Amino acid sequence: MNLNYMALAVPVFLFFIGLEYLIAKRTGKKIFNFTSSIANMNVGVAERLIDLFTAGSFYFFYDYLHKHYAMFNIKPTILTWIALILATDLVWYWYHRAGHKVNLFWGFHVVHHTSDEFNYTAGTRITVFQAVVRTLFWSVLPLVGFPASMITTMLIVHGLYPFFTHTQLIGKLGILEYILVTPSHHRVHHASNEDYLDKNFGDMFIIWDKLFGTFAKEDQEAQYGLTKQLDSYSFLWQHFHFLVEIWYAAKRENGLVNKLKIVFGSPSDFDPEIRQIVEKKFLSRHKVRVRTQKFRLYVIGQFSFMVTILFFLLLFEHQTDLFLQIMTALFILITVINCGAILEQRRWVFYLEVVRGFFVILTTFYYFPHPTTFAVFAILTISSLAYFSTLQKQYLNTLYGSQSA
Ligand SMILES: [Zn+2]
Ligand SMILES: [Zn+2]
Repeated sequence: MNLNYMALAVPVFLFFIGLEYLIAKRTGKKIFNFTSSIANMNVGVAERLIDLFTAGSFYFFYDYLHKHYAMFNIKPTILTWIALILATDLVWYWYHRAGHKVNLFWGFHVVHHTSDEFNYTAGTRITVFQAVVRTLFWSVLPLVGFPASMITTMLIVHGLYPFFTHTQLIGKLGILEYILVTPSHHRVHHASNEDYLDKNFGDMFIIWDKLFGTFAKEDQEAQYGLTKQLDSYSFLWQHFHFLVEIWYAAKRENGLVNKLKIVFGSPSDFDPEIRQIVEKKFLSRHKVRVRTQKFRLYVIGQFSFMVTILFFLLLFEHQTDLFLQIMTALFILITVINCGAILEQRRWVFYLEVVRGFFVILTTFYYFPHPTTFAVFAILTISSLAYFSTLQKQYLNTLYGSQSA
């Protein structure tokens, strides 16, 4: 059977997250936070999901560039594979450095840094926007002459490696510290300590940071997260807040040149007041953080259910027709938004439940277009509409406790 073995990354990553959690608990290290970990893994789920629909187009894009504009025709040999891994990593270094130095790119990359905790769940915080920007940077590889098949294989390795550098449990790794990007190096990159800002951009090899003057050794305890932490676990807000900030900052400026200066300016010169303005506009002012046991169970339950569906959707990618793929993807996407909004105690999550239910009904009816299916769903829909507000109240009460009603 033609299975998509990349799906195995899902259980492998979950295994390492679980292992890290258990070791941390045993050794009394407080490196996990429920809300933050769920928010981190949510981002990863969405990325894997959207990758299902975009990965193919990246291949065609590289192939097109290679066929039409390649300078050389590079054949796969041991030497060219080594050249490719170095070239991929060098391009990544500059992509990543630009991601921290240019507002527009930071708007995409900041999502990876929003986590205020540093563990393997932070390693899953990769967004699909990042994948798009990265692809554009890596376009130079087919232009030089590397074939698309080599590049996409290399990108799998390059995509898996950095997950393992997101941990506080592994100390320094001796001689490897001189060659590879180790957890110690990457801890520095994720820290907001003054001495650690804009350091260690490398993904697999630390040589580029040493070569281009951005290397810092881990010699003090790291404070993780952004210099000004985002006060929201909302999936949508975490993804779009900085792009919205850029939009508002650019809108305030007169003339195209000044607007472009905002878009392509440096995040360190960005007016911090803009954050307050957009937060006032878009974020709820009445934050209640209630954490009932039922709430946790509901979040964990739906997260586990979603990840299981994601795993099978990826694994049986070639056996699933497009309709089911899209419906399942929409279902997962709504669940991801739901998980984020629930962490924020949003009341509109109930409407997401309704939409989720609608997708299930539509999909079932598509595959079993029988009058009985229709009748059952019609009765269910009518009765739930009749009791809509009671159901809503009950649902919010159960999740958030009586305060929210
Ligand atoms: Zn970064
Ligand atoms: Zn990272």
